Amino acid sequence: MAELAINGGTPVRVAPFPRYNTIGDEEKKAVMEVLDTGVLSQFLGTWHPDFYGGPRIQKLEKEWAEYFGVKHAVTVNSATSGLYAAAGAAGVGPGDEVIVSPYTMIASATAALVYGAIPVFADIDPDIFCLSPQSIRQRITPFTKAIIVVDIFGHPADMDEIMAIASENNLIVIEDNAQGPGALFRGRFAGTLAHMGVFSLNYHKTIHTGEGGVIVTNDDELAERLQLIRNHAEVVVRGKGVQNLVNMVGFNYRMTEIEAAIGSEQLKKLKSLVEARQANAAYLTERLRGLPGLTPPTARNDATHGYYVYSIRYDATATGVSRERFVEALRAEGLGLNAGYVLPIYLEPMYQQRIAFGKDGYPFTYSGYQGVVSYEKGICPVTEQMHFNELICGDFCHANLGREDLDDIVAIFVKVFTNIAELR
Ligand SMILES: *Cc1c(COP(=O)(O)O)cnc(C)c1O
Repeated sequence: MAELAINGGTPVRVAPFPRYNTIGDEEKKAVMEVLDTGVLSQFLGTWHPDFYGGPRIQKLEKEWAEYFGVKHAVTVNSATSGLYAAAGAAGVGPGDEVIVSPYTMIASATAALVYGAIPVFADIDPDIFCLSPQSIRQRITPFTKAIIVVDIFGHPADMDEIMAIASENNLIVIEDNAQGPGALFRGRFAGTLAHMGVFSLNYHKTIHTGEGGVIVTNDDELAERLQLIRNHAEVVVRGKGVQNLVNMVGFNYRMTEIEAAIGSEQLKKLKSLVEARQANAAYLTERLRGLPGLTPPTARNDATHGYYVYSIRYDATATGVSRERFVEALRAEGLGLNAGYVLPIYLEPMYQQRIAFGKDGYPFTYSGYQGVVSYEKGICPVTEQMHFNELICGDFCHANLGREDLDDIVAIFVKVFTNIAELR
């Protein structure tokens, strides 16, 4: 038996795995065409035809809306900006609560805070790591205004159930689909299943423009509010004749023409890039599922998974080896991966100490907020169990990984399992 690398043996994989890179000649050509025009952004922050941006922005928005089958697509400079704009468009404000997943990139929750609202964390379902409808129900109070649901790792949340809860309680739902563009839920695209959906085009995502984001909606009024918040709403409302001034404080969330031109090329590649992830995930899952104590990711019957993150549940009682030691052993064999994903958001210092804006703890201490919120350890037991004990994850499925790479990944797991006694 080969000795484990963690104990001084030879690693299965010494050469680094290929980097994910989706940028090719198409993007280069598109960028050069923009540079030749000299107009790198055509937005004007005033009520004028250029309020909506230049030709490439409008082209990408049209293509995005067609591709995803929605009425409106609004480009922004990041999904973070997109989430903030969506919270603003939803009318979220001081005194409100917004129910959000604790197991997500931080901006999903910060979107509530920036409008003076209180993030309330509901728990996740352990098979897909997305918000649990049952837990959402338990968190609804008279102060709940909105739900921010995340299609984490690329698997759609239980959206029909969540939209039903929202309609019973008159809530707005924002779907953060930064991680699952191209995934499906009951035949419809993830990201299009709520009142507003937010996509990310940052460098790390399945398709990207360096930095960027897109918000989609079928609601004309929400679309207008998003466009206003993106582009200096407070000076535009007068000329545009906008009546509802709630949250019409504007920002500069505008995407450039260069990013939009890249975005159009990237969108053409989305389908094949997602299919490659799905094929790679299927190959890995087939080979890993027999290993004791490992539960590879799966899609629910009514959904497809985008596999932005490949998530494995690890059962230390089945192996007798702690998750941390198991992950260290895999790393030593040449596989980069993480124990857990992100710290459950409520355990971050800002929530533990309740300091956000100013030194007095706004909005947590705002006198107009009549609810009671807890950020104690233990409020989301499934999330904590996944994060602190079970989850192992990594970027194992991307389109630049070939068969040999996947076989090495499998060989790394098999080697560690074959020699698991050495780790006990
Ligand atoms: C990446 C990501 C974001 C933020 O995207 P940016 O475009 O970098 O602002 C938001 N939510 C989730 C779930 C993400 O993965």
